[in-house]
Amino acid sequence: MKITNKMEFPDYIYNLFAHEWYSGHDAPHDYSATQFCGTPTQTVLQNRHKDEIECDIIDLASKVLGVGIHYVAEIANKDAGYVVEARKYMKVDGKVISGQADLYCPKTGKIVDWKNTKATSYIYGGREPKYRIQLNINKLLFEANGLPVNELEIVEIYSDWAKAKAAFDKKYPPNPFHVIRIGQNSQEETLAYIRHFIADCRAIEDLPDDELPPCSPEDRWERGGGWAVMQYGKTRAIRAGLDSEAEAEMYRNKYTKVQDTYIEHRQSTPVKCIDWCDVNKWCPFYKEYMKKEEQ
Ligand code: SF4
Repeated sequence: MKITNKMEFPDYIYNLFAHEWYSGHDAPHDYSATQFCGTPTQTVLQNRHKDEIECDIIDLASKVLGVGIHYVAEIANKDAGYVVEARKYMKVDGKVISGQADLYCPKTGKIVDWKNTKATSYIYGGREPKYRIQLNINKLLFEANGLPVNELEIVEIYSDWAKAKAAFDKKYPPNPFHVIRIGQNSQEETLAYIRHFIADCRAIEDLPDDELPPCSPEDRWERGGGWAVMQYGKTRAIRAGLDSEAEAEMYRNKYTKVQDTYIEHRQSTPVKCIDWCDVNKWCPFYKEYMKKEEQ
C-alpha cells in the first residue's frame, strides 16, 4: 500500500499515520481471515493491486487509534498468561489462509479481538455476522494448529463515547467498551464457508478488472435510490424511496396534480464503494456509478 500526504503535513505527522505497525502486513498468505468478511470481487482486486492501493494519511487517523489500543493491549497482557497477536496458517484447497488473534487464553481456550469503533456500532448493531466469520476462521486456524478454542469474544471500544449521553440515552452504550460473545460454528461449517469463498474468487480471478462482477447491493451498503415523485420547479421530492415506477405513478395519480408533477428515477448511493472500499478505482461498478453521477 502507498501512503500519500496530499495536504503536505509535516513529516512527523506523516510518520505517525503512515507507520506500518501491523505485524501481519507481509504475512505470506493467499487470503486473510478478514478478507473472508469482504466479497470475492473486492478480494480479487485487493490481491491483484496490493502494491498500488493508495491511502492518504487523513484517512488513517481512526486506524492509528485502533493501533494504540492493540499496542497497549499487547504490552499489558503478554506477561499475564495470554498469547497476544498470534498468527496461524492453514491450507485449504491449495490456498494459504492466515489469521491473527489479538489475544488467546490458553487456560480457557478463548479468542478475543479488539475493535476500535464508534458508539453507532452499539446503537445500530449489524456487525456481528462479520465478526462471526472472522473469529470462527481464527478458531479453525488455531484448532488446526493444535490450540483448542472454546469461546469467541469481541470487545468493541467506542472512541467517541460520551459519559453525558450515556446518562440519558437508553440506546447509547452504557460504557466506553462492550463485550460481545460470538457464536461458534462447527469446523465443517467454517471450512464449507472458506471453500465456497475460494471457489467464488477462483471463478473470477482471471477476468480483467473491467469484467469483474459487482458486489451485491447489500455488500455495497446501498442507501436511498428508487423512484420519486417530483414537482416541476422544485428540487425536493414530494415522495421519494418508492420501489417501482408503477408505485410512483400510483402515488402521483392519487395524491398530486399530475400536470404539476413528474416521476424521477434515482440512483441509490453505494456507501461502501464511495467511502470504504480501498480498490474502488479499479472496480467497474464504481467507475460506472461515478460516470453516471458526473453526467
Ligand atoms: S467498489 Fe463497491 S462493488 Fe466494487 S469492489 Fe468495492 S465494494 Fe465491491
